[in-house]
Amino acid sequence: MDTINTTQALKIRKEQVYLLYNSSFKAAIATTIAACVLTYMQWSYITHITLILWLSLIAVISIARIVFYFAFKQKQPAAQDIKFWEMSYTSLTIGAGLAWGAAGIFLLPENNFEYQAATIILLAGMAAGATTTHSILRTPVFIFLFLTMVPLTINLLLDYTKLSLSSAFMCSLYTVFLAITANNLYKTHLQNITLRLQSVTREKFMRASQDMVHQTSKILEMIARGVPATEVYNAVALLYESRHPGMRCSLLELKGDTLIHGGAPSLPKPYCDAINGLKNGPNIGSCGTSTYTGERVLVEDIATDPKWENLKDVALPHGMRCCWSEPIKNNKGKVLGAFGMYYNHPALPNELELADLESGARLAGIVMERQQHEDLLQKLYGAFEHTQDAIMICDLEAKLEYVNPAFEKMTGYSAQEAVGQYIKILRSDQHPPSFYEKLEAQDHAGQHWQGEIIIKRKDGTFLEVERTVSPIFDQHGEAIFLVAIQRDLTEHKLLEAKFSQAQKMEAVGTLVGGIAHDFNNILAGITGNLYLLQMRYAQDSDAMQKLTRIEQLSDRATSLIQQMLTFARKDTVSMTDLNLNQLVTEVFGLIRTSIPKNIELNLDIEQNTTFIHGDTTQIHQVLLNLVNNARDAVENSSQPCINVTLGTYDVDEDFVQQRPYFKTGHYALLSIQDNGCGIPDEHLEHLFEPFFTTKDVGRGTGLGLSMVFGAVKRHQGFVEVASHENQGTTFHVYIPLLQNKTALPKTENSDKLTTKGHGELILLVDDEAMMLEMGTDVLQSLGYRVLQASDGLEAVDIFTANQHDIALVITDIVMPRLGGIEAAERIRNIQANSKIIFSSGYDPDSTLTQNILAKNEIILSKPYHINALSEAIAKALRNKQN
Ligand code: ADP
Ligand code: MG
Repeated sequence: MDTINTTQALKIRKEQVYLLYNSSFKAAIATTIAACVLTYMQWSYITHITLILWLSLIAVISIARIVFYFAFKQKQPAAQDIKFWEMSYTSLTIGAGLAWGAAGIFLLPENNFEYQAATIILLAGMAAGATTTHSILRTPVFIFLFLTMVPLTINLLLDYTKLSLSSAFMCSLYTVFLAITANNLYKTHLQNITLRLQSVTREKFMRASQDMVHQTSKILEMIARGVPATEVYNAVALLYESRHPGMRCSLLELKGDTLIHGGAPSLPKPYCDAINGLKNGPNIGSCGTSTYTGERVLVEDIATDPKWENLKDVALPHGMRCCWSEPIKNNKGKVLGAFGMYYNHPALPNELELADLESGARLAGIVMERQQHEDLLQKLYGAFEHTQDAIMICDLEAKLEYVNPAFEKMTGYSAQEAVGQYIKILRSDQHPPSFYEKLEAQDHAGQHWQGEIIIKRKDGTFLEVERTVSPIFDQHGEAIFLVAIQRDLTEHKLLEAKFSQAQKMEAVGTLVGGIAHDFNNILAGITGNLYLLQMRYAQDSDAMQKLTRIEQLSDRATSLIQQMLTFARKDTVSMTDLNLNQLVTEVFGLIRTSIPKNIELNLDIEQNTTFIHGDTTQIHQVLLNLVNNARDAVENSSQPCINVTLGTYDVDEDFVQQRPYFKTGHYALLSIQDNGCGIPDEHLEHLFEPFFTTKDVGRGTGLGLSMVFGAVKRHQGFVEVASHENQGTTFHVYIPLLQNKTALPKTENSDKLTTKGHGELILLVDDEAMMLEMGTDVLQSLGYRVLQASDGLEAVDIFTANQHDIALVITDIVMPRLGGIEAAERIRNIQANSKIIFSSGYDPDSTLTQNILAKNEIILSKPYHINALSEAIAKALRNKQN
């Protein structure tokens, strides 16, 4: 406040001094003329020497005043230098006053009242004139009045005549009158000057605020036009810089707790870079602190303020000494950033700067909030434009105001065609009229609606969609428009179908699992009895023919149940050492019959023996699935061809570098190559996903390759695919090779002849009487003696009693009281090297079978072929002899 008054007072004083000097030239000339006139008038009554001395004094003073007048004009001094000129003026006025005061003493002719009166009148005139010229300031005018009039008055008093005394009295009165007038004039002058100065300031201020309004509206216009944020921020900074010469401004955005450079057109880039990305905090310069506390921060000197302790080294080299920061907030008071002002000298803001700091932050707040809205709007618009769901915005009459590209794609109507139409254009009339009436009524009432609906596309086709209509409300809770989102259900329905298909399969699995055990037992009974009959009627060719037919039928039944189990993935995985060459050859033989004759199918096996540790059924499935896919792929090829090759492959470090998911080692490599349609790149990544299929419902399940993947993984192997569209596809299956192992002979080999026994004693354990009976017959016909037990406990008892005679135990696994596995354990406790064959039907809890397999036991799956049985017995007995 004080500073403002001092500057104001200085300005007024300057104005006053200027006015004084303005009239001083004319005043000097007038004074000189008046002095000459007085000299001339008194020439005959006053000594010439006195007159000449006096006139010279006046002339010297006038010349000095004129010289000073020109010097002042030349110099046009500033407010701070005005004191000197004021003093000079006052000094010259004192000189003039003294000279004219001397006139009142020395130029008053004695005893000549007429000439005395003339001098008095002239002096009075001088005093009056001086009152008008000097009254701009009090000091000169009062000094001049006093110096001119007081000596005269005293001189007249000293004369002490009636006339002179009255003159002195008149002079005093006159002087007082002039002093009052001068004082009034002084006040008027002062008032005028103050008013003029005020109006000049006001005008300046008006111009500045007009300019401000203009600039601000320009900035708002930039925002509205969508000019990039940085440009707008720069414009804000420049606006405030233009209002305060020497000031530099910056805008920082706050994202989370990080300061982001917004705009600082006059700050050096290295400084901006150093600030960009800083985390805010209680002592992070002015802006970092103000965004942290949400309060204004005024730092007078960056060099000494503790808030700049860590940042001053970045600021000071660029000449920044003071920094004032105002947090930028949105209208809810959330801090969005900071507006900063810098000078290159230490300072605190004056009133105007403080007001600007505040208004700058407010303007920046508008810009930032608007920018954030803009960003959000942009994102929302992007989301609308790119989503897969059709989005419609319509009024309560369901007249379309906006549709997104997904709508265009889904319905076939372009946005141009659709906007302005009613949503009814999609009406398919596939629903009853009451449905549509209800729908319309709900739209009008601005009610939420969701449901499945069949729409009609522009081309007349129908599409099943799920539609959600949501009303949007104004601040009074009135629905003002509707947003409808529509999703194509085709895919969904397809998935649903697939899902129910998968569920069906699951159900089949459960069903098959449920009956498989019993069914296998029945089949085992049939095959056993068949064998016995075949033995008996070997000579009767007619009977034999029929028995063979029954045998074939039961074989088919066996493989059927097996296939169903595999299909439903309920099959037990029995990992054994197996000869892959042999297996592939066999499976290939089976597959050949199911492939159309027009397709060329080749098998190329590189090596004779390729042993792996694996599951026969799963390998079978892998090959079958891959060949079936190849068959489908070559459907439209002109010369369809499928090549299956089996060889070995050494995966070394180099290979693993390219395929990090591989492990080094020796692998069997099974490749299935076709010249079919190939696989588009975008499908490759989904290929092994369950349910991924490009085939029609009923033809493809999308489960084939996922089964392949799972099976290969189970074998610690890898599967790879190489494909070129329209040229063909090759699947490579890598399965780890067994090193230095020989495979077990195949147990199920019906071509081999049965091996007969030599009266060895076999303990047969089964809980089913029929199985027991049939088994005994078969074993006896094979030349063995048989002891029977109907569960594990009984078996252990019988074994204990006959442990030295029993050569072999054949036991079922699942039995009441004591199961086969526990029984076997107890038997082995009695005689460690007892030979045991496990036989089992389908075991829903496959872990039992797994445990036995892991111990390298011999296991026969029911129903087994008699040859397989005899082979297994022979093998077990052979082992005993070893
Ligand atoms: P499905 O055969 O039931 O469709 P799959 O999992 O076996 O399921 O195969 C998934 C998809 O992979 C197939 O629909 C097909 O598009 C593609 N595919 C698989 N094998 C081949 C192949 N040899 N040639 C071309 N495409 C193939
Ligand atoms: Mg398939």
